[in-house]
Amino acid sequence: GEAITAEMVPELAIQSFPLCMRQMQDTLKTSKHLKHEGRQQYGLFLKGIGLSVEEALAFWRKSFSTITDDKFNKEYRYNVRHQFGLEGSRKNYTPKSCTAIITGPVPGAGQVHGCPFRHHSETGLTSLLHSTLGSTMSNADLKEILAATKNGHYHVACTRVFELQHAKLPGGASVQKGDGLGGGDSVDHPNRYFDASRKAIK
Ligand code: SF4
Repeated sequence: GEAITAEMVPELAIQSFPLCMRQMQDTLKTSKHLKHEGRQQYGLFLKGIGLSVEEALAFWRKSFSTITDDKFNKEYRYNVRHQFGLEGSRKNYTPKSCTAIITGPVPGAGQVHGCPFRHHSETGLTSLLHSTLGSTMSNADLKEILAATKNGHYHVACTRVFELQHAKLPGGASVQKGDGLGGGDSVDHPNRYFDASRKAIK
């Protein structure tokens, strides 16, 4: 894929991130912090879209804007390097799939990791959908997404969000209902969502 820099992340989040990652970017922007599980889920996703370890360190340092360099280096630097297999057990961690996120640790108070379709209340999900999709989402779309979510078909709901997010592309192209990630495929991995988005936008 393309080389991704720390500065590109906020814009890419709007264009191409699935709801789970978009809400973490939004939280980072407003609270200048993310709790441990969120840093794990989001950090590995960012590694998966192509951030190098240097860009990842720059991204987290910039995002945690209210702390000192000293605190960042002591408390967060190791963890970022660990995700890239440069510390500790030197394991090459891979980004989490939707199944891993959906069945993983349930977010508690003040935590925004997890899958919004699985872990949000209907009210919380509705407001997240409104804030990310705006007027591209009709009331009928919203009803459809909430119904799929209620039935536990999170991948169907997420795929519909992908289609709406890409309903108006630069150059006049558009992803239609039923196209999914391409060829009718539905979302099974946040990084596949991202890759399909970049492909659609190009
Ligand atoms: Fe993220 Fe997957 Fe949930 Fe979509 S279905 S929001 S990509 S975890």
